[in-house]
Amino acid sequence: MLFKELNLIEPILKALETEGYTQPTPIQEQSIPTILKGKDLLGCAQTGTGKTAAFAIPMLQLLHEKHINTKATKNIKALILTPTRELAIQIEESFKAYGRHLNLRHLVIFGGVNQHSQVEALRKGVDILVATPGRLLDLMNQGFISLNTIELFVLDEADRMLDMGFIHDVKRVVAKLPAKRQTLFFSATMPDEIQKLANTILSSPTKVEV
Ligand code: AMP
Repeated sequence: MLFKELNLIEPILKALETEGYTQPTPIQEQSIPTILKGKDLLGCAQTGTGKTAAFAIPMLQLLHEKHINTKATKNIKALILTPTRELAIQIEESFKAYGRHLNLRHLVIFGGVNQHSQVEALRKGVDILVATPGRLLDLMNQGFISLNTIELFVLDEADRMLDMGFIHDVKRVVAKLPAKRQTLFFSATMPDEIQKLANTILSSPTKVEV
């Protein structure tokens, strides 16, 4: 299977060529068509399987196609929640790489650093926001971020969120999301509590396991 066979738009195929990727990994092959159809996804996959591109590539395509003819607004359209600063930075870099020929604005926010530059960037307008839970809630509580306009939500490394004690923060974030949205849920393992969380935040998901 080649990326060319996955109905991806030319600007994305061109970016993948620059990255030197020709063939999708198994998680990408299974996830990309499902996400492009607008379906919710439950993905059992570890880091290293190519899961970041598995959600970033179709999300970029959906957002590009939906908003190509609308005037740029300041509204955040996609949120990716991930447990650590390192993962958050990597994910934003993936959106940057695969979206290099598209006009979508992305931003990464995390704690442990001054919030000033993050707030400035939010003011200018962001389409895709990558965040760790604590800083996201902090900026939401201060009124700098609203999740009312989120169309696409990704919960990345859900089991690690639980291990790191972030599960209540995650639930607080989910409570602020619009009910009508597409949700992608990734976890390396599926303990009971994670399965329960998946059941509450996903709607008729396609299950993908690698
Ligand atoms: P991830 O599981 O998202 O952390 O990705 C693991 C690594 O695989 C990253 O360094 C990616 O740049 C790389 N990668 C992702 N998809 C592909 C692909 N289709 N072909 C080659 N490398 C890839």
